[in-house]
Amino acid sequence: MDCIFCAIANGEIPTNKVYEDDKILAFYDLEPQAPVHILIIPKEHIKWAYDVNEENSQVIAHIFAKIPEIAKKLGIEDGFRIVNNCGALAGQSVQHLHFHLMAGRAFTWPAG
Ligand code: 5GP
Ligand code: ZN
Repeated sequence: MDCIFCAIANGEIPTNKVYEDDKILAFYDLEPQAPVHILIIPKEHIKWAYDVNEENSQVIAHIFAKIPEIAKKLGIEDGFRIVNNCGALAGQSVQHLHFHLMAGRAFTWPAG
């Protein structure tokens, strides 16, 4: 399977890592939309949020369990936004589940 985030997760494509363990990886977004913009992915290939279920959702819990540590490491102190785009209509462009962690500016709501 040709998946750019799998290639990043298994080290085939080098990236600027913020956090890594055996299950997940956090790295800087190529085209940051905020002063701090990183992506957090499960190393296991899950296409999108529609494919999260009781069997694989532990890794999503693990991502959220690590977010405070990652935010602290990045010096994020005034809040952050976490975004998951699921499907083309929502703007998903990479078909490997990922969470955007964005900070360092004010964000509007509702999101566009
Ligand atoms: P999506 O649009 O699917 O929610 O988010 C995909 C994100 O991945 C985009 O913000 C895009 O800038 C980022 N991205 C795409 N390809 C690469 C890459 O090869 N390396 C990194 N670091 N980010 C990427
Ligand atoms: Zn993948």
